[in-house]
Amino acid sequence: MAEFGTVFYHEMPLIEFRNGAWSAIQWQSSAEIRLSPAAHCLHYGSTCFEGQKAYRQADGGVAVYRLKDHIARLHHSAQGLFLPPVDAHLFEEMVLELVRRAKDEIPAFPGSLYIRPLLIGLDPKVGNATHPSESACFYVLASPVGDYFTPGAKMKIYVDETNMRCAPHMGMLKTGGNYASALNWAIHAEKELGAQQVLFCPHGDVQETGAANFILIDPKKKRIVTKNLTSEFLHGVTRDSILQVGRDLGYDIDERAYTTRDLRQWVKEGYEAALTGTAAVLAPVSSLLFEDGEEVQVQGSEHAMKLRAALLDIQGGKAPDTHHWLTKI
Ligand SMILES: *Cc1c(COP(=O)(O)O)cnc(C)c1O
Repeated sequence: MAEFGTVFYHEMPLIEFRNGAWSAIQWQSSAEIRLSPAAHCLHYGSTCFEGQKAYRQADGGVAVYRLKDHIARLHHSAQGLFLPPVDAHLFEEMVLELVRRAKDEIPAFPGSLYIRPLLIGLDPKVGNATHPSESACFYVLASPVGDYFTPGAKMKIYVDETNMRCAPHMGMLKTGGNYASALNWAIHAEKELGAQQVLFCPHGDVQETGAANFILIDPKKKRIVTKNLTSEFLHGVTRDSILQVGRDLGYDIDERAYTTRDLRQWVKEGYEAALTGTAAVLAPVSSLLFEDGEEVQVQGSEHAMKLRAALLDIQGGKAPDTHHWLTKI
């Protein structure tokens, strides 16, 4: 299988927003797009995206996972960037038809079709640095992907108490600039500290990593602890799914603010730690490196792996879809 997100289904649906209305869906090659070199998105970062998946089902069909939730989140990102919100029916139709067309290229479960919708501002006006783009383009890429998860892989996380991933008022938007903003810290952690990810904890407030949410599991009390939702970080659909699956399996859910001091103490006491996101679903953390140089080993991943398996069973149609998360093609 090629590297994650490098191979795309050969065509894609695209719509344009001009003069206050969305166009009809056009299908075109996914090899390139035509864009004014002055386009607003290229100069002023008016871009937002989604990341979602379609999975082969145990009954031989295909289903898209939590489509409505991704549509709602893109809507929110668009509002935050003053881009025209994508019509929900068009979005849904584009994704469903794309998955239908690409069906034969979806790898066996737990491989999937990774779906990447993107909304960009098109106004060809370099004078509009302080104005939103009135025209926009929305298209959806599809990429067949394997299981992103490597069993037993070491994941060392750097607990950064100094820096922010992005400006706090942008944290909940899935917008390109936020990743550019975090790159400096990610490179430093990787090159200088040998850490795969940075856990951003501005002023000691534990939030999330560069592209995934962070959860803790107390194995003794069967409790999942994670940061309560604020506008400062991305509200992951996987985070929400794991909390719901956890609830269904009898875990207590504790969404709260907590500090890096709590984090260090809890992990020493035996809490498990994991990252959640669409690409890897759930990936256990093996150690946490703190700013004073102490590296604390996470002691296990039994509960994390149990939650991961339970969610994958729903995604693959092996367990009942009690929360109506699947849209069958
Ligand atoms: C996409 C993303 C997540 C995970 O969201 P999911 O909906 O679970 O894929 C978490 N944090 C950031 C910064 C993200 O971009």
